[in-house]
Amino acid sequence: MGRYNTNQRKALADFFKEHRDTYFSTDEIVNSLCSRGDISKSAIYRNIDKLVREGSLQKSAEEGSRKFLYRYVNDDRCGSHLHLKCLLCGSVYHMDDRQTQIVLSAAKGSSFVIDEKRTVLYGMCERCRPETGEKG
Ligand SMILES: [Zn+2]
Ligand SMILES: [Zn+2]
Repeated sequence: MGRYNTNQRKALADFFKEHRDTYFSTDEIVNSLCSRGDISKSAIYRNIDKLVREGSLQKSAEEGSRKFLYRYVNDDRCGSHLHLKCLLCGSVYHMDDRQTQIVLSAAKGSSFVIDEKRTVLYGMCERCRPETGEKG
Protein backbone atom coordinates (compact mmCIF):
# COMPACT_ATOMS: atom_id res chain seq x y z
CA MET A 1 0.00 0.00 0.00
CA GLY A 2 2.85 2.37 0.87
CA ARG A 3 4.11 2.99 -2.61
CA TYR A 4 0.77 4.07 -4.06
CA ASN A 5 0.02 6.38 -1.15
CA THR A 6 3.43 7.97 -1.38
CA ASN A 7 2.99 8.68 -5.09
CA GLN A 8 -0.37 10.34 -4.56
CA ARG A 9 1.04 12.44 -1.81
CA LYS A 10 3.98 13.43 -3.97
CA ALA A 11 1.61 14.47 -6.77
CA LEU A 12 -0.17 16.76 -4.33
CA ALA A 13 3.04 18.19 -2.89
CA ASP A 14 4.42 18.73 -6.40
CA PHE A 15 1.26 20.58 -7.41
CA PHE A 16 1.73 23.01 -4.56
CA LYS A 17 5.43 23.41 -5.24
CA GLU A 18 4.65 24.27 -8.88
CA HIS A 19 2.33 27.01 -7.69
CA ARG A 20 4.18 28.71 -4.88
CA ASP A 21 2.62 31.83 -3.47
CA THR A 22 -0.85 30.87 -4.62
CA TYR A 23 -3.81 29.93 -2.47
CA PHE A 24 -6.08 27.10 -3.59
CA SER A 25 -9.43 25.88 -2.40
CA THR A 26 -9.90 22.13 -2.20
CA ASP A 27 -12.24 22.37 -5.22
CA GLU A 28 -9.50 23.96 -7.29
CA ILE A 29 -6.99 21.32 -6.24
CA VAL A 30 -9.42 18.53 -7.04
CA ASN A 31 -10.22 20.03 -10.43
CA SER A 32 -6.56 20.37 -11.40
CA LEU A 33 -5.25 17.07 -10.12
CA CYS A 34 -8.15 14.73 -10.79
CA SER A 35 -8.27 15.85 -14.43
CA ARG A 36 -4.64 14.78 -14.74
CA GLY A 37 -5.46 11.44 -13.19
CA ASP A 38 -2.65 11.75 -10.69
CA ILE A 39 -4.63 11.34 -7.54
CA SER A 40 -8.12 10.47 -6.33
CA LYS A 41 -10.42 12.95 -4.68
CA SER A 42 -10.43 11.18 -1.32
CA ALA A 43 -6.64 10.97 -1.36
CA ILE A 44 -6.46 14.70 -1.97
CA TYR A 45 -8.53 15.46 1.10
CA ARG A 46 -6.60 12.99 3.22
CA ASN A 47 -3.20 14.24 2.13
CA ILE A 48 -4.07 17.92 2.46
CA ASP A 49 -4.82 17.30 6.13
CA LYS A 50 -1.52 15.50 6.52
CA LEU A 51 0.49 18.25 4.85
CA VAL A 52 -1.19 20.87 7.02
CA ARG A 53 -0.31 18.91 10.16
CA GLU A 54 3.28 18.58 8.99
CA GLY A 55 3.46 22.30 8.40
CA SER A 56 4.02 22.01 4.65
CA LEU A 57 0.75 23.74 3.85
CA GLN A 58 -0.71 26.85 5.36
CA LYS A 59 -4.45 26.70 5.93
CA SER A 60 -6.44 29.87 6.12
CA ALA A 61 -10.10 30.79 5.95
CA GLU A 62 -11.23 32.37 2.72
CA GLU A 63 -12.55 35.84 3.27
CA GLY A 64 -16.34 35.97 3.41
CA SER A 65 -16.90 32.24 3.15
CA ARG A 66 -16.56 29.11 5.18
CA LYS A 67 -14.15 27.54 2.75
CA PHE A 68 -10.50 27.05 3.48
CA LEU A 69 -7.59 27.93 1.28
CA TYR A 70 -4.23 26.19 1.20
CA ARG A 71 -0.82 27.44 0.26
CA TYR A 72 2.55 25.76 0.09
CA VAL A 73 4.94 26.97 2.77
CA ASN A 74 8.18 27.69 0.97
CA ASP A 75 10.41 27.33 3.95
CA ASP A 76 10.44 27.55 7.70
CA ARG A 77 10.58 31.30 7.58
CA CYS A 78 7.00 31.48 6.32
CA GLY A 79 5.87 30.37 9.75
CA SER A 80 7.28 33.46 11.36
CA HIS A 81 5.98 36.31 9.24
CA LEU A 82 2.61 37.52 8.04
CA HIS A 83 1.27 37.28 4.52
CA LEU A 84 -0.68 39.70 2.43
CA LYS A 85 -3.03 38.55 -0.28
CA CYS A 86 -4.28 40.66 -3.17
CA LEU A 87 -8.05 40.34 -3.54
CA LEU A 88 -7.93 40.93 -7.28
CA CYS A 89 -5.05 38.87 -8.66
CA GLY A 90 -4.51 36.52 -5.71
CA SER A 91 -0.79 37.26 -5.41
CA VAL A 92 0.76 36.60 -2.05
CA TYR A 93 3.33 38.91 -0.48
CA HIS A 94 5.61 38.00 2.38
CA MET A 95 5.93 40.66 5.04
CA ASP A 96 9.45 41.09 6.30
CA ASP A 97 10.19 40.41 9.94
CA ARG A 98 10.20 44.07 10.89
CA GLN A 99 6.73 44.68 9.40
CA THR A 100 5.44 41.50 11.02
CA GLN A 101 6.71 42.62 14.42
CA ILE A 102 4.98 45.99 14.04
CA VAL A 103 1.65 44.31 13.35
CA LEU A 104 2.07 41.76 16.11
CA SER A 105 3.13 44.36 18.64
CA ALA A 106 0.05 46.43 17.77
CA ALA A 107 -2.05 43.60 19.14
CA LYS A 108 0.02 43.31 22.29
CA GLY A 109 -1.67 44.68 25.35
CA SER A 110 -4.96 43.22 24.25
CA SER A 111 -5.63 39.78 25.61
CA PHE A 112 -5.45 38.40 22.11
CA VAL A 113 -2.43 36.75 20.56
CA ILE A 114 -2.23 36.74 16.77
CA ASP A 115 -1.35 33.43 15.17
CA GLU A 116 1.06 34.60 12.50
CA LYS A 117 1.10 31.19 10.83
CA ARG A 118 -2.57 31.47 9.94
CA THR A 119 -3.13 35.15 9.58
CA VAL A 120 -3.54 36.55 6.09
CA LEU A 121 -4.21 40.21 5.46
CA TYR A 122 -6.26 41.13 2.43
CA GLY A 123 -5.85 44.12 0.21
CA MET A 124 -4.74 45.23 -3.21
CA CYS A 125 -1.25 44.90 -4.63
CA GLU A 126 0.59 47.66 -6.43
CA ARG A 127 -0.22 46.26 -9.86
CA CYS A 128 -3.95 46.05 -9.18
CA ARG A 129 -4.33 49.33 -7.38
CA PRO A 130 -5.73 52.15 -9.49
CA GLU A 131 -3.47 55.13 -10.02
CA THR A 132 -3.54 57.37 -7.00
CA GLY A 133 -2.03 60.47 -8.57
CA GLU A 134 -3.58 63.88 -8.39
CA LYS A 135 -6.85 64.38 -10.17
CA GLY A 136 -7.33 66.79 -13.01
ZN1 LIG B 1 6.26 33.79 3.68
ZN1 LIG C 1 -3.02 42.16 -7.39
